[in-house]
Amino acid sequence: MTHDLIVVGSGILGLATAYLAHKQGQTVHVIEAGDRPVESSIQNFGHACFTGQADLIQPVAARARRGWLEAAHDVGFWAAESGTWIPVMTDVEMQVLREFSSHRGEDQARLVGAAEIADALANPGLGAVGGAHLPQDVRVNPREVAPRIVEWLRGEGVDFTWNTQVTGIGDGVVETVRGAFDARYVVACPGYKLMGLFPGLAEDHGVRVCTLAMSLIERPSRLGPEFGMLTGTSLARYAGFAAMESVPELRAELAQREPELVAMIANLMVTGIDAGLLIGDSHAYSLTPEPFIEEDVASTLLDRATSLLGIEAPRVKQRWLGRYSDSATTNLVLERPDEKTTVMVVTSGIGMTLSFGVADLALRGGSVEGF
Ligand SMILES: Cc1cc2nc3c(=O)[nH]c(=O)nc-3n(C[C@H](O)[C@H](O)[C@H](O)COP(=O)(O)OP(=O)(O)OC[C@H]3O[C@@H](n4cnc5c(N)ncnc54)[C@H](O)[C@@H]3O)c2cc1C
Repeated sequence: MTHDLIVVGSGILGLATAYLAHKQGQTVHVIEAGDRPVESSIQNFGHACFTGQADLIQPVAARARRGWLEAAHDVGFWAAESGTWIPVMTDVEMQVLREFSSHRGEDQARLVGAAEIADALANPGLGAVGGAHLPQDVRVNPREVAPRIVEWLRGEGVDFTWNTQVTGIGDGVVETVRGAFDARYVVACPGYKLMGLFPGLAEDHGVRVCTLAMSLIERPSRLGPEFGMLTGTSLARYAGFAAMESVPELRAELAQREPELVAMIANLMVTGIDAGLLIGDSHAYSLTPEPFIEEDVASTLLDRATSLLGIEAPRVKQRWLGRYSDSATTNLVLERPDEKTTVMVVTSGIGMTLSFGVADLALRGGSVEGF
């Protein structure tokens, strides 16, 4: 059977594309190399950080937010509109938040005092200067979302072909290790494996693999699964915050105060899921990364995160080295090598956040302006 659309890859980008196309009434076939989604889309924090994205892509972030909430409603997965807490430990961090709040408004970044942030982190001994709450951010469970969307789409009649490596795509034909499939058009979402399908595009955009040290610890009952926390390192990282005037001063301060975090290119953050608290992350870049987790890196992240949360003896349940696609020159590869083929890869750690927004962009034939 010839479908309207073949989606290559069952990560969140592929699934969001399949979901939106299916809702438009198109017939969809998803082809995936594995027997289920286990790559970037289940390895992350499940943190949809709309607020921290650059001003220019706020329309895409807003579309993504609507998509996430609509999919959560249709599919029935957990999506908490609980926002993000940011404890700030110094005056410079507070200044960045003040600038951001006055730039975007209180409905996107509400400044809070020392007592409220200590309460939000359930840590009376926090000793923060103050903080902020970003009410628009959404939390999902990354281990639940992709499998649940697959299950729902299958129930709706979307076809899935698993354990099938795609070897080439062109003019509506998808070549695989099990033969060829065709469709009116194809959207390829191979994530950090872009090099294996479109090496020229990967090279043109300097696409590489980013590896991140992550852990899951036991969650104290005083912090709910909806909990989400960014920190000062996040303010220096996400494009929306990083555009603020005082960020160069913040970077200089972090280099003095937290040289270990700066050296590992940390974005220290924590989110909750039912199974525990997800803690990370460091960033290292390579075309072909080694699989090892540096214990110093993992334990420093654990130490800093748990001290903010007042957790004295964390019990680590899991550790892993996450992988996502990255580029130093763009946050989104959205290319059309021929009239029937679209290639879409988010090349930064914001693919969960933007998934439904960029999927919509791809289906509408939009461009990467602002990324
Ligand atoms: C540790 C970590 C933390 C992160 N934190 C966040 C966060 O807090 N917020 C956020 O927004 N983002 C976050 N991200 C980034 C986010 O997870 C990714 O941007 C997003 O999941 C990418 O989705 P994807 O569908 O493109 O890729 P993937 O989930 O990797 O899916 C790609 C799929 O394509 C398949 N595939 C590839 N090549 C082929 C082929 N030739 N044939 C068939 N199938 C193929 C793969 O098997 C895979 O299933 C994080 C990532 C990591 C690793």
